[in-house]
Amino acid sequence: MKKKIYLIAPRGFCAGVTRAVDTVTLAIEKYGAPVYVKHEIVHNKHVIDELEQKGAIFIEDLNDVPINRPIIFSAHGVSKKIINEANQKKGITIDATCPLVTKVHIQALKFYNRGYQIVLIGHKNHPEVEGTMGQVPEGAIVLVEDINDVDRLKINNNKIAYITQTTLSVDDTIKIIEKLKTKFPYIECSPKEDICYATTNRQNAVKKFASICDAFIIVGSSNSSNSNRLVEVAKNSGCLKSDLIEDSTKLNINDYKHFNSIGVSSGASVPDILVMDVIKKLKTNHEYDLEEKTLEDENVTFRIPSSLR
Ligand code: SF4
Repeated sequence: MKKKIYLIAPRGFCAGVTRAVDTVTLAIEKYGAPVYVKHEIVHNKHVIDELEQKGAIFIEDLNDVPINRPIIFSAHGVSKKIINEANQKKGITIDATCPLVTKVHIQALKFYNRGYQIVLIGHKNHPEVEGTMGQVPEGAIVLVEDINDVDRLKINNNKIAYITQTTLSVDDTIKIIEKLKTKFPYIECSPKEDICYATTNRQNAVKKFASICDAFIIVGSSNSSNSNRLVEVAKNSGCLKSDLIEDSTKLNINDYKHFNSIGVSSGASVPDILVMDVIKKLKTNHEYDLEEKTLEDENVTFRIPSSLR
């Protein structure tokens, strides 16, 4: 029996990543190089390298931005403090925050203005979490990362609402929400799901097709939240081996030679060429049939910031 590679979809660039990468490219075209980007525009090393070659400079500290050069905020969003600091430099600021992250920011502000204590489910130190917490004054949002954090939570406010990071594990988040609802039966939530469509679709696809795969390879960078979650989903769905790899150069094909069926997918910030390179490399030492498996088609697009249209 010939071995199989299942190429899973949806995978790769989501609408928010496409918009963010296009925003940097168009800003370089419009304003000339260099343009400065607060934090990596998206969490993928290859995307960053390519944009650096075009003239983007990625910084963490706004003091590293010279006067009068454009500053772009990454897809993960930034706090109000960062926006104010950037505006004080009196240069051009361009917001490449994914609209689905902005939606969570707006919801946080609405809850805050109505007197709610907000619980944010997310990963500490992730830039999206820092940006969301920074939409409201300190203390207005309390972060929970897991069920144990919910156990420790003490809230003296009978108005409580939760919001979440957009790129979390759907299954883990459901468990945390259940725990929150048990502890605070009156807790409220965003009218619309905060975990984004791209995260949900990629996890659902990996979960569905993991049942026919012995091993799973997720292409993505180690700092990509949604890519890491896909590795966990494959593992939790019964795959004997499930790995995150940056690109084909990090792939040891011998690690996979004993498996009859290998699933391949990628995180939301991964150019598809990297996935194809991985498949090409897998096929160099062993014969595989390649079969594409698609859970559903995506047709979401976001308009680029108005100043660049
Ligand atoms: S993963 Fe989701 S939240 Fe992040 S950029 Fe893509 S669509 Fe937006």
